[in-house]
Amino acid sequence: MKLISRYGKRIGFCAIVAAAMGASLGPAARGEGNAPAERLIGAALGGGRAYQIAEELTDGVGARPSGSDGAARAVKWAVGEMRALGFKNVHTEAVRTPRWIRGTAEAEIVAPAPQAMHVVALGPSVPTGPGGITADVVEVATFDQLKALGDAVRGKIVLFNPRPMQRGRTFEEYARVQAFRGGGAVAAGRLGAVAVLVRSAGTGAFRLPHTGGMHYDESVPKIPAAAVSAEDAELINRLISSKRHGAAVRVRLVLTPKFDGEVESANVVGEVPGHERAGEIVLLGAHLDSWDLATGAIDDAAGCGIVMDAARIIAGAGRTPKRTVRVVLFMNEEMGLSGARAYATAHAGELGKHVAALEVDSGGGRTAGFGVVGAGGVALLKKIVAPLATLGAATVTEAQEAGADLSPLGGKVAQFSLEQDLTTYFDWHHTAADTFDKLDAMDLAIDTAAVAVAAYGLADATETLPIVAPTRRGPPQPAAQPAVSQPGASAPASPGATAK
Ligand code: ZN
Ligand code: ZN
Repeated sequence: MKLISRYGKRIGFCAIVAAAMGASLGPAARGEGNAPAERLIGAALGGGRAYQIAEELTDGVGARPSGSDGAARAVKWAVGEMRALGFKNVHTEAVRTPRWIRGTAEAEIVAPAPQAMHVVALGPSVPTGPGGITADVVEVATFDQLKALGDAVRGKIVLFNPRPMQRGRTFEEYARVQAFRGGGAVAAGRLGAVAVLVRSAGTGAFRLPHTGGMHYDESVPKIPAAAVSAEDAELINRLISSKRHGAAVRVRLVLTPKFDGEVESANVVGEVPGHERAGEIVLLGAHLDSWDLATGAIDDAAGCGIVMDAARIIAGAGRTPKRTVRVVLFMNEEMGLSGARAYATAHAGELGKHVAALEVDSGGGRTAGFGVVGAGGVALLKKIVAPLATLGAATVTEAQEAGADLSPLGGKVAQFSLEQDLTTYFDWHHTAADTFDKLDAMDLAIDTAAVAVAAYGLADATETLPIVAPTRRGPPQPAAQPAVSQPGASAPASPGATAK
């Protein structure tokens, strides 16, 4: 099935390349900011490198969680790759990141009948201690249910088992379940729970647990936190609901993560200088770090490949745009957004010269177009990306937010997003299955073409997008941030931020 499907997609790819290369673009395509759209599309579809870049970063560099040796390798690789792609002003910018080492995770139901569960620690969970924690489980679907239980939670393991995610839905659906992953340990710890389990924030099956970021509150006891597979959350739910066994569901959890302080890491930056207003910037972002369970192909090697190749194609477009296209590969998106904050701080003086910012952090699915934060930007972006109609990628809608790493720029820089097919994204996201085989060369090439056309157009246009603050990720980032000095001190960059 896979081969047939892929073969079919290749045929489609060739047809699209031919159509794009041979298409006679309409007046909108030939308008200001769109002159080289045909060439950009042809370069992405005919000789795009996003797929190969993602392969190097996943298979070549490997897993790269913040603070790890893999992350250090990724920084070194990105500098070399940007130079090889012909970017100018390639450099690193210092970022402090936590170094959290996962250790092992084991969990089993010990009553009413012994059986193993599939769990992973959330980052940066505290350990259980070598002997683990054994306690009865209290299951809740909402924070309100937890609060209503009050003292009944004391001494228990709390399982957050919200309504399952709908497959293929938007990040709003992810944010709904991710709230329990991020804040569950604080809410349960406040009531005296001894550990927290969270139904995996994802849509996959195959008993795969999904890791992800969580946070602690210094005023609340820190309790160990792990995600359970969807199947194990369902199992506990059935056991608790069942009248047959008549006894509590008791679980043993052993987590051995270790917090190893902070280390120096870096964002990696490279540019395609503008030919007229080089001091003005269109930022193309993605994040260089991944989780540690796999090699982070969809999250976010795909995004790195797309933005790096889009900039390469713009550099080779014959006439570079008026403004500079700056690629920023952020460090530590996953465990505290310290790279995003470092960028906002280091570039505070020139944020007024950032005319637009994009972060590609939604996997490798094929795009249908763009979102733009603020309805006032829709018309301009529609005009710029009109040539992408050939690829089915010219849709532009108003978006509420545009990427976790852009959240510290909220209200200061206009933001837009690549709206990709998310059908399978949350099946593999943050699991051991986020590997290179999940990517498709054609989809990445189309995404790259779209980003190249949009970025070139915005960097070359007379008009600019309006600056509107994203609404889904909370208020703009305050200037001062607490240092990441101990487990769990890394709070999200802004209240409500959804780490992707
Ligand atoms: Zn992620
Ligand atoms: Zn991500």
